[in-house]
Amino acid sequence: MKILVTVKRVVDYNVKVRVKSDGSGVDIANVKMSMNPFDEIAVEEAVRLREAGVATEVVAVSCGVTQCQETLRTALAIGADRGILVESAEELQPLAVAKILKALVDKEQPQLVILGKQAIDDDSNQTGQMLAALAGLPQATFASKVVVANGKATVSREVDGGAETLSLKLPAVVTTDLRLNEPRYVTLPNIMKAKKKPLETLKPADLGVDVAPRLKTVKVAEPPKRSAGVMVPDVKTLVEKLRNEAKVL
Ligand code: AMP
Repeated sequence: MKILVTVKRVVDYNVKVRVKSDGSGVDIANVKMSMNPFDEIAVEEAVRLREAGVATEVVAVSCGVTQCQETLRTALAIGADRGILVESAEELQPLAVAKILKALVDKEQPQLVILGKQAIDDDSNQTGQMLAALAGLPQATFASKVVVANGKATVSREVDGGAETLSLKLPAVVTTDLRLNEPRYVTLPNIMKAKKKPLETLKPADLGVDVAPRLKTVKVAEPPKRSAGVMVPDVKTLVEKLRNEAKVL
């Protein structure tokens, strides 16, 4: 069984992003870039399934600029077997990525596609869902547990007030939540080994995909600054302020 797993190169989660002065987006020049944290979880889960003998091959895919090769090398160091870079200098919106992934699903015929639930840069939470729709595959989003057996994936997901368990016939699409697993540390020997693993580069046109953006960003703005807090002398004043000023009581 082959697993396709997606890895997006995003601004590292520790970086405090700054909005460009013209409001056209955020400044990513000279900023540390890393693998999207939910995608690390996706790679970890795929590699665990291969280590458990459930899967035979893990193929990592990244779409974007040439430097996404580094993100793919990290996936290979976690344990993926080979990488595919779909290289494009254009801004790739979720629909474009989903179309690319649909073409790769047709080409590679994986039994399972594991994506992050959301990319921490655009916070779209759309790609997995769009891929499932385009490819006509069942989907389980926000997975906190995945069990694969007898041609089925059994996926637990957190819902309001409890956990929901879904059964999906393979091939299927799963997106990862934070609770699914804790990704392993990448060791130096594995980073060295990853350098020798195969990494193929394709262009969207090779897959017959038009990646032209369908959305235009009108404006990006900093969140409003928080105003300073006030110390209140006693509970009575607090309740009074909550009732008469904040009007939350
Ligand atoms: P999004 O819909 O943008 O929030 O992204 C959801 C998930 O789709 C991410 O966690 C990735 O697994 C995958 N994904 C989105 N964009 C890309 C990309 N450019 N390359 C690889 N995977 C991506």
